[in-house]
Amino acid sequence: MARYTGPVCRLCRREGEKLYLKGERCYTDKCAIVRRAYAPGQHGQSRSKTSEYGQQLREKQKVRRVYGVLERQFRNYFEIAEKKTGITGENFLAILEKRLDNVVYRLGFAASRNEARQLILHGHIRVNGGKVNIPSFMVSVGDTIEIREKSKNIHRMKEIKEQNETYKSPSWLESNIANLSGSVLAEPKREDIDIPIEEHLIVEFYSR
Ligand code: SF4
Repeated sequence: MARYTGPVCRLCRREGEKLYLKGERCYTDKCAIVRRAYAPGQHGQSRSKTSEYGQQLREKQKVRRVYGVLERQFRNYFEIAEKKTGITGENFLAILEKRLDNVVYRLGFAASRNEARQLILHGHIRVNGGKVNIPSFMVSVGDTIEIREKSKNIHRMKEIKEQNETYKSPSWLESNIANLSGSVLAEPKREDIDIPIEEHLIVEFYSR
């Protein structure tokens, strides 16, 4: 399963904003955006105005990096969103939100989507009681998601429970942090997505 394995803070610096890819570190002054708030590379400090195309490209790349999806799959999601009824940009974000790695993160079982992906790949996640080790698995309304019984006692999960004791998941999900279990109550709505995204730029990018 292909995924980006390079330095992740570089991705935030390239987009010029925090994408919160590293969990706890993102909230400290060790964050690379706090230390070096300019694009990486030789010309990082001298980049000038971005064209309309450049803005669309950057927004597309930003969202792709936030959700940790490679280009081909990202475009496939867009094509699925286009075929659905409703607003393409909102359909698209809803598809990204329903990925299992995002759901595990949104339920508060991991500090970042990357960590959620690791939990899934290592077999710690159960969906409707069965093992699912595919981060791109799409959840449906009514699904239950939980940490495998045996895994609930590992040190990291105990830490997560303490750190996220008061965590509130978005309204389309129900999370029980004490039991490390949750469920999908509804389809995600646009207002449930708290990341600043201008999805119309992505629609324009793929409609060129
Ligand atoms: Fe991005 Fe987090 Fe790295 Fe900061 S610490 S640059 S928010 S991944």
